[in-house]
Amino acid sequence: MLVLGIESTAHTFGVSVVDANKKKVFSNIMDSFSTEQGGMIPGDVGRHHVGCCQEVIQQALDKAGVKISQIKLISFSQGPGLGNALKVGATAARSLSLIHNIPLVGVNHCIAHLEIGRMLTPAKDPILLYASGANTQVIAFEEGKYRIFGETLDTGIGNFIDTFARYLGLGFPGGPKIEQLAKEGRKNSNFIELPYSIKGMDVAFSGLLTNIRHKISKDMKEGKFTKEDLCYSVQETVFAMLIEVSERAMAHCGKTELVLGGGVACNKRLQKMCDIMCKERSTKSQSCKSFVVENQFNVDNGAMIAWLGYLKFKAEGPQKIEDTAVRPYERTDDVQVAWR
Ligand code: AMP
Ligand code: MG
Repeated sequence: MLVLGIESTAHTFGVSVVDANKKKVFSNIMDSFSTEQGGMIPGDVGRHHVGCCQEVIQQALDKAGVKISQIKLISFSQGPGLGNALKVGATAARSLSLIHNIPLVGVNHCIAHLEIGRMLTPAKDPILLYASGANTQVIAFEEGKYRIFGETLDTGIGNFIDTFARYLGLGFPGGPKIEQLAKEGRKNSNFIELPYSIKGMDVAFSGLLTNIRHKISKDMKEGKFTKEDLCYSVQETVFAMLIEVSERAMAHCGKTELVLGGGVACNKRLQKMCDIMCKERSTKSQSCKSFVVENQFNVDNGAMIAWLGYLKFKAEGPQKIEDTAVRPYERTDDVQVAWR
């Protein structure tokens, strides 16, 4: 069954053709909004998606070698996300569905990150550490729902990293650049003590941001440390916070698998820290394992939307057009899960 998935919650307009029965991704095309300087302005992101949507959809079909008439289901990300961005994907999905008479479903973006992990890795019932631009959540399936066991109280970890990068004069997205600088900084092992902010099972980054801004304008200017040292120290600190909450969620839920998802999951150091935590949790009788998908499926992508759309469609059938309004503030635990 060929499914067309359309992702447009934030900076990325992504379209994918997936053969759901064979669990094969035939194409996964994306066009992402970026800047040389400054961050994401919702209106600009919406205009970016309008500008590229037709081309990205066509490329996804061409690369898969299929015609729109062969598509049996259209799935789109219904929320959460930026209203301006979500509406472009939803409108494209509705139009294709109506014109070509193809069933339509809208899905939750955060859960899609988890389900693509279950599709592409051996993980069966994992904890998801979803570390992306706007979202930072530790999610698990418990008592018939995807529930959030810990999350950010302010900004998402990716947005935090991007803001930090902006303070250093780097463009958007900052994550990959910070990762490179941190790798250099690691060689010096000049670790700078920073605020470590966990409240219960939740994390917070805004206090740390203020602290860093102060350190950049004072201590770094005075030559007390380099920007590489700071990147290394920031990464170690914030990733340790995420790992601590993930580990406690694993202990609480009695789960032995961890799946990483979201753009920040592309970070090799975060992947390594997850591996180390799982190894250290393993005992003779029970091994713990962490899994990560290819980068193209960590970042926002149409393939995960297609796959979750298929699961939902199989369980519930198509959605009525009048139920396809976007849901910018939808929570992971609002979603009824009929497919598990
Ligand atoms: P998403 O919203 O899931 O598409 O993820 C986008 C976020 O991932 C942005 O904030 C990027 O800065 C961040 N990101 C991408 N690659 C990396 C990386 N290698 N290390 C850390 N963050 C990254
Ligand atoms: Mg995402």
